[in-house]
Amino acid sequence: MKVERSDILVIGAGPAGMCAGMYGARAMLRTVVLDKLAPGGELLNTDTIEDYPGFGLIKGSELSDKMEAQAREFGAEFVLPVEVTEVFKEGDDCVARTAGDVEYRAPALVLTTGGTPRKLKIPGEEEYASKGVSYCALCDGAFFRDQVVYVIGGGDAAVEEADFLTRYASVVRLVHRRDEFRAQPVIVERAKKNPKLEYRMSMVTEEIRGNGVVQSIVLKDVKTGKITEEKAEGVFIFVGFTPNSDLLKADCCRDDLGFLMTDENMMTDIPGIYAAGDVRHQPVRQITNAVGDATTAAVSAQKFVEELYEKKGRDYWKAGATA
Ligand code: NAP
Repeated sequence: MKVERSDILVIGAGPAGMCAGMYGARAMLRTVVLDKLAPGGELLNTDTIEDYPGFGLIKGSELSDKMEAQAREFGAEFVLPVEVTEVFKEGDDCVARTAGDVEYRAPALVLTTGGTPRKLKIPGEEEYASKGVSYCALCDGAFFRDQVVYVIGGGDAAVEEADFLTRYASVVRLVHRRDEFRAQPVIVERAKKNPKLEYRMSMVTEEIRGNGVVQSIVLKDVKTGKITEEKAEGVFIFVGFTPNSDLLKADCCRDDLGFLMTDENMMTDIPGIYAAGDVRHQPVRQITNAVGDATTAAVSAQKFVEELYEKKGRDYWKAGATA
């Protein structure tokens, strides 16, 4: 097994990862960013971003390109694609084991692995995945030109993406299990001005039906119990997401939903292992606070590494010793 050493390791190259990479490298520490895909993370699933200060309206992909370029300019090294299978601490080493034959080690590691769309776990969801069921409007929306599309969920993602999907679909019906949206009022108000959006409130999705591809959706009115089957050609599901925190095998540091708990420096219970962005437990998940967390994490990681070098000497580390 080949061992690749750096001063700071960042796992995940979404906005938090790119930002942590930038700050680590800017502190003149060798900072390696690993991701199993291209840089960008959730930015690549977002058409237009309107609430990232200083940019007005910007495409998610464009903001991602800018973040990557800036991190690279400061010297962050992106190693892609690399599938990290496990993260753990061994002596003074934070270790990222991969599916390949290289193991990455550093005295500090920042986990910025984000989350994965939550599933509804209803009949038909898995069967029709990519056959009408989707979790990404930007990726798949154009396949539903002039078709009848349903969007499930009531948070920011569901309402925004339903609005976006009306560019293609003949009608978009938003199904939410309550009477009130969880989404921010500004997003709901904008959506309400869209004549191609219809609402199915206080309804839950019981089943997705089809014949090779999606053909209908079965809804249940939670107040009356009435079941209806409606024609549907596309079903987009935005019911939140689960954190990608399983890499950290240690039986600690997470809340009931699996989000990683940190202190105010973004450090987990494991010294030298930090978390930032959507994988971290927090009440608000926006790009702005992902990069805010990542800044704190990277600066804290920098101090952690420098204190270790102060104590043990950089040569000790460069020699590849583990305490
Ligand atoms: P979210 O805020 O957790 O909302 C999930 C929605 O799905 C809720 O409305 C929830 O209903 C519903 N839901 C959950 N499980 C369900 C089930 N089994 N059946 C039916 N409905 C179910 O998730 P999100 O919209 O993906 O947003 C995640 C984070 O990203 C949030 O912090 C959000 O602010 C942020 N975000 C921000 C923007 C933006 O600012 N432009 C855009 C996208 C996302 P209940 O409301 O009844 O719980």
